[in-house]
Amino acid sequence: MGKKIVIVGAGYSGILTAKKLAKNFKNDDDVSVTIIDKNPFHTMLTELHEVAANRVDEESIKISLKRVFAGRKVDVKLDTVTTVDFQQKMVKGTAGNYAYDYLVLCAGSKPTFFGTPGAEEYTYKLWSYNDAVLLKDHIHNMFRKAAIETNLEERRKLLTFFVVGAGFTGVEMAGELAEYAPILCKNFEIDRSEVTICNVDVLSRSIPNMPEKLSAKVEKRMEKMGVRIMMNTSVVRVGEDFVETKHNDHITSEGTYTVVWAAGIESADVTAEAAKSLQSGGRGRIALDAHLRSLDNEEVYVVGDNMLYTPEGEEKPVPQIVENCEHSAATAAHNITCAITGKGEMKAYKPSFHGFMVCIGGRYGVARVGMPNKMFNLPSWLAMFSKHFINIIYFIQVLGWNKVFSYMKHEFFTIRNCRSFVGGHFSNRTPSFLLVPLRVWLGAVWFYEGVMKVIEGWMTSPKLTGFFGGAQTWYNTIIDANATGTAAKAATAAADAVSAATGTGAAEGAAQTGNAATAAGTVIFNLDFLGLFSTIFVSGKELAHSTLQDLAFKVDVPLINWMIKELIIPNAGLQIGMQAFIVIAEILIGLALIGGLFSSPAAGFSLILQFMFVTTTGLYLGTFWMIFAGIAVLIGAGRTFGLDYYAMPALKSGWNGVSVVKKSYLYHD
Ligand SMILES: Cc1cc2nc3c(=O)[nH]c(=O)nc-3n(C[C@H](O)[C@H](O)[C@H](O)COP(=O)(O)OP(=O)(O)OC[C@H]3O[C@@H](n4cnc5c(N)ncnc54)[C@H](O)[C@@H]3O)c2cc1C
Repeated sequence: MGKKIVIVGAGYSGILTAKKLAKNFKNDDDVSVTIIDKNPFHTMLTELHEVAANRVDEESIKISLKRVFAGRKVDVKLDTVTTVDFQQKMVKGTAGNYAYDYLVLCAGSKPTFFGTPGAEEYTYKLWSYNDAVLLKDHIHNMFRKAAIETNLEERRKLLTFFVVGAGFTGVEMAGELAEYAPILCKNFEIDRSEVTICNVDVLSRSIPNMPEKLSAKVEKRMEKMGVRIMMNTSVVRVGEDFVETKHNDHITSEGTYTVVWAAGIESADVTAEAAKSLQSGGRGRIALDAHLRSLDNEEVYVVGDNMLYTPEGEEKPVPQIVENCEHSAATAAHNITCAITGKGEMKAYKPSFHGFMVCIGGRYGVARVGMPNKMFNLPSWLAMFSKHFINIIYFIQVLGWNKVFSYMKHEFFTIRNCRSFVGGHFSNRTPSFLLVPLRVWLGAVWFYEGVMKVIEGWMTSPKLTGFFGGAQTWYNTIIDANATGTAAKAATAAADAVSAATGTGAAEGAAQTGNAATAAGTVIFNLDFLGLFSTIFVSGKELAHSTLQDLAFKVDVPLINWMIKELIIPNAGLQIGMQAFIVIAEILIGLALIGGLFSSPAAGFSLILQFMFVTTTGLYLGTFWMIFAGIAVLIGAGRTFGLDYYAMPALKSGWNGVSVVKKSYLYHD
């Protein structure tokens, strides 16, 4: 009889559990997997503060569930689950009911207010996509209103921001806001000194689960960014336009329209409801056995933030972090598979966590990472690098290449105001129409080269013996001359070979031929790398009399030299074949770049050809610009004033529709 697995919540843990189960049962039509979420997308909660403070676009933190499960045996349901009837084995939602044999509960968390008057009503939260967008708009509105407000008291209220909680979420939010404030001040012509950002916490230091040294670093950085750190301070009341705080029994009221609540979490409503009938604790988390099943119900598994489980040998329950979601999803999926198939042994949950990273704005971070018994702190740059790296590892599991690329794009390639730990150095905001002349010129040079080679008879008679052999002789002559100290003359044919094969124009080549033939060459460097290859940089003349056109560079690879000597030179037919390939490639690359059609692969092939030349005949420095031009026009250069402008959208939509492409996420939005 068929088995139904129902997963409530498509957050970090739900998605991974569903994907693993779908894989385990891909050939078993008797087992169905259904995942239910109140949103049609998965939210990257760890990036909410980036949206709230406008570092990245709001769309960048949504991942479509349809896309995640494309081509997989997972039924995605859009519904808000209200209760679970554990007797009837029925999940009840506002849009329907879902019978299950195995339930995976992973509805995540929501903020908790500890009974603070006015907190639930008047604060901004940061626990969903909507929260982040609402907060972003609100912050923007405060600056917009303040810009035209002349009443100083009102203006101060508009420009005062409180973030309650100095754990990960609160610190990240306050830091992000402090980074954003100067940008808003500039846009709205407000002096930064008018803006107050406070980070309040009842505890004595920021991020208390990190070592004191890191807390101190965090606080120092935040203060430098203009955040008022208010430790040992509790928020006792929040109103529409004020917040009351208590420090050393002294209550202070400050005017503000913005209090962001990041002070603590409890289980989402549906889990809190389930916690009434199952053993639970710790603000609505469900108590579990080592196999991640409810202590009261073997068919109910819990993963992610909703778990209350203390692994053997540990003192505290597992933390509510993404790494716990990843590990628990794998264990639960494995154990459910064992329970259904009756094969294999269930695993006990033994997670091993590798640390925490916190970013304070896009440019600074702290991290404590390593293995459980050997943790160390990372410097800021490495901390930021690891945070991005870990996100990428997660994205690979969820939406493969597609999400990795879109993440890199919004975090680095299109980042605004240089808000990344590598600054704006990778940002592609340079208008690509400025690349049009370079693209067309590079194309024209390739086209000319190809046509000239046809005229010189490259399609009909073997020429590579002279070119490869000549080039080799030319380099050897210079190297030998330098080694022996004799002023040997380079052979005319040899120099001719290098100039022609590397793309120097015929007339120019002829001129060089004369020069090279009469001058003593100079070795600038000749470095050998463990006998695997060497880099040779020479001039055809004495260095003092050399111009750029006399300098040539070669990567000398013994394996390639052997192939040329043993395979290509003895075989006239192979030579003509290779020549035809080079000529056709040059002409096609040229036409593609001139017309801006398939300009990325054309630029890629342009680089491949240059690489071939550099490892066979070597290249004159005069043609090195073609390498850099190839790199410059590699991405998107045909999208302006080129046929890619029309062709790419059409191709993309066709490509994105292919089912295997959808399943393997090999598309780009
Ligand atoms: C701003 C912020 C920053 C963070 N930064 C970090 C960090 O840097 N590193 C880290 O490890 N962790 C971080 N966390 C914590 C991390 O996001 C959570 O541990 C993680 O999201 C928990 O995953 P989950 O699958 O349990 O729940 P969630 O990811 O919260 O997913 C729960 C899902 O259930 C759905 N759902 C809830 N109720 C219902 C219902 N009734 N019906 C249907 N669907 C429902 C929700 O829509 C959601 O999709 C951060 C959290 C926040 C908010």
